[in-house]
Amino acid sequence: MKNSKILIGLCSGLILFSCQNLDETNDLGQQKLADEIIYSDLKVPTIKVNLKSENARIAGEEREVKLMKAEFITAPGSEQMGRTVIFDNKGSKQLDFHFNPDRKIFGTSDMSYYIDEVRPSSTISTSDATGALENAAQTWEEVSCSEMGLYRTPTEADPYGIVANIFGYPSIPDVVADVSNLGFMPAEFFDFLAPGGSNFILAVTFTFSYGGEPDLNGDGKIDSALKEIYYNDNFPWAANGGQIDLETVALHEMGHGFDQAHFGTGFIKKNGEFQFSPRAVMNASYSGIQQDIYRTDNAGHCGIWATWPSN
Ligand SMILES: [Zn+2]
Repeated sequence: MKNSKILIGLCSGLILFSCQNLDETNDLGQQKLADEIIYSDLKVPTIKVNLKSENARIAGEEREVKLMKAEFITAPGSEQMGRTVIFDNKGSKQLDFHFNPDRKIFGTSDMSYYIDEVRPSSTISTSDATGALENAAQTWEEVSCSEMGLYRTPTEADPYGIVANIFGYPSIPDVVADVSNLGFMPAEFFDFLAPGGSNFILAVTFTFSYGGEPDLNGDGKIDSALKEIYYNDNFPWAANGGQIDLETVALHEMGHGFDQAHFGTGFIKKNGEFQFSPRAVMNASYSGIQQDIYRTDNAGHCGIWATWPSN
């Protein structure tokens, strides 16, 4: 089976990660953490995908996509910093990605997003979860420098997701939106990303590019093909005021969905909590409710999207 080969490849590659010690301790007794990039030499093959159509037939041509990276955010008190896992850096150290308006799977320059409702959280109602994700999408859409249009695609009755399918979960490996929130996955899903990841990874965004030329419009960034976001059902999600605020994390993940990377330097304080400088939605770890765009988030988003779709 092609899928099981990929899975074995991922697991054997991930063992390498545990050998790395990326953390330093400074004179203040704090653990200084950099937003390190973890490279791997995994050879993840291109995958053929279809656009989900309303009659479940193939809409448009089959496209070849390639899993490029995963960015995860970590839980408060875990003393683990969110990281970027690189699945394929062949031929380029260039880590910036951006959707190419002329190459989008959905064919329109407007951006689409999706909300799964068949992989629910154990702790938050589906309607509250959907509301939190819609709010997060709305917050990004309201950033005023950008002409980026955003619309939600219809929620399907079946579970979707290419990565979930690769990892062996029941999942249709087709594309339902440019940026897809694909539900809450069992804890073990997150152990594929880092040793013990199920206990500290809150959520993850996977970025796919295309097979063939990585930067077709020559903007110096690898063309994003699609984003898949998964949330960890091992955590007590809540709407407004609970232990882990879903809207806060969704805002962060959809920031990755719109091609932003992690930002800010993090420290672990003696009480185990994170402190970031500057504080931003795109900080690599959860440090409390944060449902608004901060200055650096706004600047990052505008730097990427202000000229869309003419770039
Ligand atoms: Zn992140």
